[in-house]
Amino acid sequence: MDRDRFWLEMVRSELEDIVGAHFINTDESNKLIYSTDWSWMPQMWLDRGRLLMGPDFIVHPGSTEEIAQIMEVANKYRIPVIPWGGGSGTQGGALPLFGGILVDMKRMNRILEIDEVSLTVTAEAGINGQQLEWALNERGLTLPHYPASANCATLGGYLAPRGTGTISTKYGKAEDMVLSMEIVLPTGEIIETPPVPRHAAGPHWMGLWLGAEGTFGIITKATMQVDYLPESRRLRAVLFRDLSKGIEAGRQIMTRRLHPFVIRLYDPASTALRVKAILGYEFDGAYMVLGFDGDPDIATLEEEKALALCAKLGGEDLGPEPGWGWWHHRYDFYYPPKNLKLPWMYGTTETISTYDKIERLYWAEKEAVETTYADWNIRFIGHFSHWFHWGAMLYSRFIVENPPQEAEEALRLHNRIWSTAMEAVLANGGMINEHHGVGLKLARYMRRQYGSAWPFLLRLKKAIDPNGIMNPGKVGFGF
Ligand SMILES: Cc1cc2nc3c(=O)[nH]c(=O)nc-3n(C[C@H](O)[C@H](O)[C@H](O)COP(=O)(O)OP(=O)(O)OC[C@H]3O[C@@H](n4cnc5c(N)ncnc54)[C@H](O)[C@@H]3O)c2cc1C
Repeated sequence: MDRDRFWLEMVRSELEDIVGAHFINTDESNKLIYSTDWSWMPQMWLDRGRLLMGPDFIVHPGSTEEIAQIMEVANKYRIPVIPWGGGSGTQGGALPLFGGILVDMKRMNRILEIDEVSLTVTAEAGINGQQLEWALNERGLTLPHYPASANCATLGGYLAPRGTGTISTKYGKAEDMVLSMEIVLPTGEIIETPPVPRHAAGPHWMGLWLGAEGTFGIITKATMQVDYLPESRRLRAVLFRDLSKGIEAGRQIMTRRLHPFVIRLYDPASTALRVKAILGYEFDGAYMVLGFDGDPDIATLEEEKALALCAKLGGEDLGPEPGWGWWHHRYDFYYPPKNLKLPWMYGTTETISTYDKIERLYWAEKEAVETTYADWNIRFIGHFSHWFHWGAMLYSRFIVENPPQEAEEALRLHNRIWSTAMEAVLANGGMINEHHGVGLKLARYMRRQYGSAWPFLLRLKKAIDPNGIMNPGKVGFGF
C-alpha cells in the first residue's frame, strides 16, 4: 500500500511540474464523477450502490505541449491516459477502467480562427459544442454537426467516435467536416495532418484518429468546415402505413440526389410509443419527418419532388406542423423528463448498412431481440435517421421496464441482449455501430466485425502506442 502511495506521489509531483498543482484533482468525489460516462452499464452499477474504478489523477491541461509532457510521464511509469471531453459518450469510451491519468480537455476551449472566406473554424478540441455554435452563429455561420448532445459534448468528442448529428443527411458526419487536426501521439510527439483532407499526397492517414476514441492519442485542435446559416428551412411530415414503403421513399429521395437535411422515419412501434409520448401525435403507421434548407427556391422545389415520391409510394402528406413540432422538440427524446432512464434497462444498438439489406436487418434484429427476451416484456423500437446515397442508419433500441435489481444479474442480461442484437446485425450485413462508437461496450465484437483485418489493426495500435498507455480496454485494444 505504502509502495503504491509512494509511486503515485512520484507521478503526481511530475504532473504538478507540468500543469501546476491547481489543475490536478484527486478528490474522491471527483473520482466518482469521472468514473462513469452516459452509458447504461456504469450508471446502473452506481445506481445499485456499487463503485467503479476511478482515475488516479484528473488533470486539466492548458496546452498541447502540456499534454505531450503528460504522455512522457505516462510512458515512463506505464500508466494509462484517458482522454475526456464532455463525458457524454454512451459506450463507456471514457471510463478509466484501469485508473491512470484522466485528461479532461475542457480547459482547451479557445476558438483560434474563423476564416470567413474558406468558411472554416479552427478551435481547441475541448471547446463545448454549443458554445462553439453560438460563436459561429454571431457571424451568421454554423457547424452543421447537430448532435442531441451538443450542450454537453466537445469538439474532440465529436471527432473521436465519428459522431453523426441530426442534419447529417445533407451535411455529413462530424468526420466529413474536418479539414485537419493537431494530435498528440501516445509517444508525446505532436503532429499535424495536412491542411486539406482531399489531396493525393499519400494515404488518408488522418482517418486513423477518427473513430480511434482516444486509443491512438489525443486530438488537441481541429479545423472544421462551417456553413452559412440557412436562408430558409422547410419541414414536413408524411405518414406511411407500411414501414417498407417509408424506407423505399427515403432511398428514392437519396438516390435521386435530392438534398434533405433530415429524413427521420420512425417505425410503427416508435411512432406509437415515443412520438406519441414526446410530441403528442397519435399516428398509426410509420411517421417520417422531411426537411429541406438553404436557397428558398431550391428547398421548395426539392421538397415538392420528395413529397411526390412519397405520394407515389402511398405516403400521406401530414403538412408542415408535425414536421416543425418534431424540429422544435427533437432533443426532448434524450433529456429528462422524457428520456429513457433508470430504473429501466435500455440500449441503443444503432447500426448501418446498404439499402439492399437495411430493412431485412431491422426485422431480423427485432425478431431476435423480441423473441429471445419475451419473458422480460422487452420492447424493440427504431428509427432511420442518417441517410446516405447508398444506405441508411437504423437507430434501434431495446427497453426493459423491469430489469433485475441485482447489479450482476442486470449487467449479464444487458450484455446478453446486446449479444443477440449484434449477432443479428453482423449476420445481416450491418456494422456494429454508426455513430456512438465502440468504447468498452462493443469492444468484444471488434474481432468479429473485422475478421482477417483485425490483426492488422492490432499491429497499427502497437506501432502508434508501443506501451499501450492510451485508453486501454476500448475499441477492442488493450485487454
Ligand atoms: C443526451 C445525449 C444525446 C446524444 N446524441 C448524440 C447524437 O445525436 N449524435 C452522436 O454522434 N452522439 C450522440 N451522443 C453520444 C455522445 O454525446 C457523442 O459521442 C459526443 O460526441 C461525445 O463527446 P464528448 O466530448 O462528451 O466525449 P466523451 O464522452 O468525453 O468521450 C468520447 C470518446 O472520445 C474520446 N475523446 C474525447 N475527447 C477526445 C480528444 N480530444 N481526443 C481523443 N479522444 C477523445 C474519449 O476518450 C472517449 O473514448 C449523445 C449522448 C447523449 C448523452
